[in-house]
Amino acid sequence: MKKKELISKKYKNFFFDKINFIIESKFFKPLSLTIIAVFIFFKIYQYLGFFLTSKFFSESQNKISNSIKISLAGTPFNLDFEEEQVLDYQIKNGDTLLKILADVGAEDQDVFSIIGALKKIKSSQNLSIGSQITITYRSIDDEESSDQNAKRKVVISNVTIPQSVEENIVITRKNDGSYDARELKVKLLRYNSRYFGVIKNGLYIDGVEAGISPNAMMNMITLYGYDIDFQRDIHSGDKFEMLVESFYDENGKKVRDGNVLFSSLTLQNRKIEIYMHKITDGDKTRVEYFDVKGNSIKKSLLRTPINGARVSSGFGMRRHPILGYSKMHKGVDFAAPIGTPILAAGSGTIVYMSPKGGYGNYVQIKHNPDYSTAYGHASRFSKRFRVGSKVKQGDVVAYVGNTGRSTGPHLHFELIYRGSQVNPSKVKATSGIKLVGKELVRFEASKNEIDRYRKNTPNQFKNAVN
Ligand SMILES: [Zn+2]
Repeated sequence: MKKKELISKKYKNFFFDKINFIIESKFFKPLSLTIIAVFIFFKIYQYLGFFLTSKFFSESQNKISNSIKISLAGTPFNLDFEEEQVLDYQIKNGDTLLKILADVGAEDQDVFSIIGALKKIKSSQNLSIGSQITITYRSIDDEESSDQNAKRKVVISNVTIPQSVEENIVITRKNDGSYDARELKVKLLRYNSRYFGVIKNGLYIDGVEAGISPNAMMNMITLYGYDIDFQRDIHSGDKFEMLVESFYDENGKKVRDGNVLFSSLTLQNRKIEIYMHKITDGDKTRVEYFDVKGNSIKKSLLRTPINGARVSSGFGMRRHPILGYSKMHKGVDFAAPIGTPILAAGSGTIVYMSPKGGYGNYVQIKHNPDYSTAYGHASRFSKRFRVGSKVKQGDVVAYVGNTGRSTGPHLHFELIYRGSQVNPSKVKATSGIKLVGKELVRFEASKNEIDRYRKNTPNQFKNAVN
C-alpha cells in the first residue's frame, strides 16, 4: 500500500470515531432525533401544500379559459382584436377570392359584394399563383347573432390584388357597407443609377454583373453594334459606364429599369459616348440615341451604294435572264458601266472579299449585329481593303463588272438582315438622324442634364475600377 492511501485511511477512521462519539453521547442523541423529526414533519407539510395549491389553481385556470373561448364560425383566424388586422396571403394553386375571403371569416353577403365589385372592372377572376393578396379586416361584435359562442363577425375593409408590378386592384368597403373596386397604379419612385466597371469576361456579362439589367444591356449592345465589332474592338481591361433610370416600389424594391440615359465605352484607342434624347414628333415622343455631337448612333445604310446608277432589276420574283425560269431575285441590280466605284453602304467590317459562285467577285460588309450588305459581279476589288478591314460609309470597296452569272455590267446589291436577304426599300429609314436647329438645342440641354446626373449620382460599384 502506498503511503498516501495509508494516511487517508487513517484520517477516515479518525473522523468516523468522532461522529460515533458525538451521536452516542448523552447530550447529542436527543437533539439529533429532534432534528430528524422536525425535518420529516416539514417535508410532509410541503407536499400537502403543493398538492392543495395545484388543485386550486388548475380549477381557476379552467374557469379563465372557458370564459375567453370564442368560436368565429369556420374561420382559422381565431383572433379577438378590435383593431384592423392585415393578412398578407400568398395565392396558391386552386385558390379563388371566394375561398380566401370565406377562410378569413367574411360574411357571405360581403364576399358576394366584393366579388361583384371586382367583376365590374375585371372580367376574369384569375389570381396569379404566388402573388400576394392583402386583406385588411376587423372582427367586431355581432349583436344579431343568436349563437352564444359566435358573438363576433369579420368585416373586410380592404382587399388589394396585384395585377402587375405596377398595378393593383383595390376593393374598398364604403360607409354603406357596399364595396367599390378600382385599378390603382403602384407608386413607383424613380432613381438614376450609375454603373461602371472593367471588362473582363465580355461587355454583356460584366455589365449584368455590375448590376445593369439584361434588357438595358442588350439595348446598348445593339446600339454599339453600329460602331464596333465586339470580337475585335473590345479587349479585357476596357471600361464601361452606364446611367440607367430605375423604378423602385415604396418598400425600396427595384421593380424595373427604365431608359438608359447614358452609356460610354472606353476602348484601347477610342471612347464612344451615347446620350439618350427624347424626340417629340407631333404628339408622340420617342427615345433615340446620339453621340456627343447629336448624330444618331443608328446609322442608316445607303440605299444606292453607287453614284448616279439606275435600278435595272428590283427585289422580288422575276424570270431569270440566264437560267430561264422564274426565281426570287434577292437583291437589287444597278446598271452601270464597268469600273464604276461601288461604295460601302454603311460603316462596318469586310467579312468576304473574293469570287463566290454565281456572284462573281463578291464583297460582304457587316455593319452591326443585325445588318450586312453584299455586292456582286464586281470587276475588281479595292486594293485598300481586305477581309477584316474597317470601312466607313462611302468608301470604295470594289468596281462594277460582269463577273459570275451576269448578263451585262451591273452591281447586284443585297441587304442582309439576320442572315436573310431583305428588300432594301422596305426597311424603314428612321435611322441616320442628325439633329439640327431647335432639336439640337434641346439635345444639348438634355445632354447637360445627363452629365449633371453623372456627376451627382453615386456609383453602383461592383466591378472595382483599378
Ligand atoms: Zn441581281
